[in-house]
Amino acid sequence: MKLFAIFGDPVAHSRSPLMHNSVFKHLNYKACYTRVHLPDGSKLKETFFSLGLSGANITVPHKEAAYEACDEVRGFAKKVGVVNTIVNENGKLIGYNTDADGFMFAIKEFGAIKNILVLGAGGTAKALCARFIEDNIKVTVLNRSQNRLTYFRELGCDCFSWEDFELTKYDLVVNTTSAGLKDEELPAPLELIEKILDNTSFVADAIYGKVTPFLKIAKEKNITFIDGADMLFGQGVLANMIFTNHELKTEDIKNCMSKSFEL
Ligand code: NDP
Repeated sequence: MKLFAIFGDPVAHSRSPLMHNSVFKHLNYKACYTRVHLPDGSKLKETFFSLGLSGANITVPHKEAAYEACDEVRGFAKKVGVVNTIVNENGKLIGYNTDADGFMFAIKEFGAIKNILVLGAGGTAKALCARFIEDNIKVTVLNRSQNRLTYFRELGCDCFSWEDFELTKYDLVVNTTSAGLKDEELPAPLELIEKILDNTSFVADAIYGKVTPFLKIAKEKNITFIDGADMLFGQGVLANMIFTNHELKTEDIKNCMSKSFEL
């Protein structure tokens, strides 16, 4: 029996155990997935091995710490320095990032997107922005503080903090901050959010399982929006393929995992 887990702080809200256990149970894969509350990201590696885990997902705020903890990082995660999926490969910690592909899957329904405003400059924003730039999308980043913006400037994004923000028009605005996750805060001051939402066609929030204060305003303004559930689904399917070493059919994983969203 293999054991998997999600690490985060907070982590109680996570639907990942339900999603992965649904796949393991229905496809008779001998594994179980649990959640681990980890306040200190520097303890990730020792906690992972002391629990005898085969693999794990990493959520807020430890995705950059997860990158540091890995013995080897593969694929897109290497480019962005952000890891959300780790596996134990012969005693070595191998890291991947499935968030960006999960998000691209989620926004397919919006059609061609050419111009995106990203709210926040944490691990999730890094992965998403790098993918958007790869896809030749114009990217603007707006973050509460200045100090995290250097990475995004070097990537080729227009970068602002609340004080110097210059508004233009966007196809899509994405909230990647954790504002609204365990509180009722907005990702930027109300006045700014109002102006931003009056200048976008679509809205997305990485947070799932609740209508955040940000999405509530988008809803009032009749803007088409998605929450983080589709992104969660996309990254979950890809993570499960890594956990099960590609032994299960992708279609079967998708079917079983999507059932868990009805629970
Ligand atoms: P990080 O901790 O790496 O980054 C958090 C970001 O949010 C920073 O830019 C920070 O700004 C900003 N922030 C935090 N609080 C506030 C606030 N009150 N007002 C404005 N800005 C704020 O987090 P992650 O990137 O790992 O995760 C971000 C969110 O995305 C989480 O809510 C997470 O649950 C969600 N997520 C959802 C996924 C899904 O599958 N649906 C996948 C991945 C993430 P500053 O730099 O100023 O501190």
